[in-house]
Amino acid sequence: MPLAAVMTAPNQPVEVQQLPEPILEKGGIIIETLYSEVCGTDVHLLHGRLEGVPYPIIPGHFSVGRVVETGGAVSDVNGKLIQPGAIATFLDVHETCYNCWYCLVAKASTRCPKRKVYGVTYSAKDGLLGGWSELIYLKPGVKVLTLPEEVSPKQFIAGGCALPTALHAIDRAQIQIGDVVVVQGCGPVGLSAAILALLSGAGKVIVIDKFESRLVVAKSFGVDETLAIRADDPRQHIERVLELTNGHGADVTIEATGIPIAVKEGLNMTRNGGRYVIVGHYTNTGEILINPHLEINLKHIDIRGTWGIDFSHFYRMIELLKRHSDSSKNIAWSSIISRSYTLKEINQALVDVEQGSVLKAVIQPNLS
Ligand SMILES: [Zn+2]
Ligand SMILES: [Zn+2]
Repeated sequence: MPLAAVMTAPNQPVEVQQLPEPILEKGGIIIETLYSEVCGTDVHLLHGRLEGVPYPIIPGHFSVGRVVETGGAVSDVNGKLIQPGAIATFLDVHETCYNCWYCLVAKASTRCPKRKVYGVTYSAKDGLLGGWSELIYLKPGVKVLTLPEEVSPKQFIAGGCALPTALHAIDRAQIQIGDVVVVQGCGPVGLSAAILALLSGAGKVIVIDKFESRLVVAKSFGVDETLAIRADDPRQHIERVLELTNGHGADVTIEATGIPIAVKEGLNMTRNGGRYVIVGHYTNTGEILINPHLEINLKHIDIRGTWGIDFSHFYRMIELLKRHSDSSKNIAWSSIISRSYTLKEINQALVDVEQGSVLKAVIQPNLS
């Protein structure tokens, strides 16, 4: 029987449990997990900060593995047959209906109420539906892609859920060639956004974080300026952005911190007529005071939220990794990974991610 790491309830240690073998349906796929990841969402899950989560769950929403068996002929979106032995990944979001008001009228499918998410909204009682498990069961209809040979499983998981999330934020940011882009926060999403801003033709990319260790990684990916937030001088990074932009502020600022005050600071670092994209507020962390006249209307600023990802972001993420893979010496994605953990080490991984002592934690469930 396969082993999986189960989050039984909020604020309880994660337990490694033996769970029943998956029952393969027509159109379903069983994969043997090579990598999954621990991200900020999993820390939120641990503390019960997301609504409607059916504990006990097997977390792990972004994963990659080797196909063990398929229920009959199953093809990917390009019509390619998925064969046993192939290295495959899948979009965690499943059952978007394309039949409701959100999907059809608002064209905001990431807000579809029918959506289910692997590792988040499925109970461990429903099967192996999360990545912190030796095997993952992909239900019929899960959107699967096989990795191209240029992209290793390690490169894929180094991108992880942060890369398509950042890609969505970059779409919302509509960067123009030569723009000055500020990224607030250098966790996996912020770092990915900074890399994508460079690829999008930004004239200058400035990354802000409180951890020097993260800023060093951002520098290694070629960002132009890194600014550490100083506790003794909390406005210094804002002043520095203004200095670096002739007093105007950035053309585009992307928030990837999840800290409310960052939004007020970000608006103050963005130029008149600029764009401000919020992607870091995945959970409710409270409120801040904004002056609607001075900070929004007078500035003629665009403020855009970014909720979740859809299949297009996932698909384009893999195309991006293929074009800029480690092997071509373009972007050293794998260096984003700080440490790999086994199933038994999951509780340590969660602590490390929460404390920010690792940038990216990956799980290898079949290593012991
Ligand atoms: Zn829908
Ligand atoms: Zn995630």
